[in-house]
Amino acid sequence: MNDIMVFISRSDATCGECGEQLGRHAWITLQGQKGAVCLSCADLDHLVFLPTGNAALTRRARKHSRLSAVVLEWSRARQRYERQGLLVEDEALETAEVERLADQEARAAARARAAQRRQELDERYVQSFAQRVRELFPGCPPGREMAIAEHSCRKYSGRVGRSSSAKALDEQAVRLAVVAHVRHAETRYDDLLLQGWDRYEAREQVRSRVEQVLEEWEAP
Ligand SMILES: [Zn+2]
Repeated sequence: MNDIMVFISRSDATCGECGEQLGRHAWITLQGQKGAVCLSCADLDHLVFLPTGNAALTRRARKHSRLSAVVLEWSRARQRYERQGLLVEDEALETAEVERLADQEARAAARARAAQRRQELDERYVQSFAQRVRELFPGCPPGREMAIAEHSCRKYSGRVGRSSSAKALDEQAVRLAVVAHVRHAETRYDDLLLQGWDRYEAREQVRSRVEQVLEEWEAP
């Protein structure tokens, strides 16, 4: 695609068509014999400037603009013309911005739907985990199965598609979750850790108490 090129002039420029003194840094097109031509004479002065920096918006605006022009300025440091932005039709820029907003809304809606799905997944997971705890430990005090299930859910939350959830519901996994809960809630384990006990020694210390509680909870 051959773009119309607009240059920001380095030296004093005069329009080769209308003769107007444009000064330095004027925005001009270069047209053969006439040399510099101002944007009015070049019929580009109805366009609006979109600076570089937002590639997506630029792409959209250009797509919607029947007429667009690349704006270039000579970089003394780099010894080459550098792109400053794009001149596009007003309506094209507006359309591009509306599209971008619609996109943002669509993305926000998609994120909300994903969060909703995750939440539903979590709720199902907590329910089935709690039910499993209740089956295996019928003597567990009311409400504890939910606390254990919610803790387990947080632990596994965010894992892709919760593919491990079926596995997480097998007896050994549920038992481990219950043991961890009992250790924290029904023994001095946390106190021991706070007193600086080694984790394994602390576990050893509360082991018989944990087993006792589990036996009580397993009894119907
Ligand atoms: Zn002119």
